[in-house]
Amino acid sequence: MSFERVPEELRTDHLAIRCMIHEYEPDLCDGWLTSVEIDPSDVKVDGYDRIYFADHIPTECPECGDRVLEYNGVEVNFHA
Ligand SMILES: [Zn+2]
Repeated sequence: MSFERVPEELRTDHLAIRCMIHEYEPDLCDGWLTSVEIDPSDVKVDGYDRIYFADHIPTECPECGDRVLEYNGVEVNFHA
């Protein structure tokens, strides 16, 4: 998955975050959902087309420990 720029959905002041493992492998995770307030500058894309977030934004599901999350409907895989 690569992002040349920050997706429109993430240029906002809040993120709804959802664990995707629950969607793919319901046995592995009961599901997790949260929302956080952000500043638009908290979401960036690095020189390798990877998206990254400021420290206060979760990038790992606290339920299953996996790192495939959805932010405002945009799936981001942090395993790469
Ligand atoms: Zn999970």
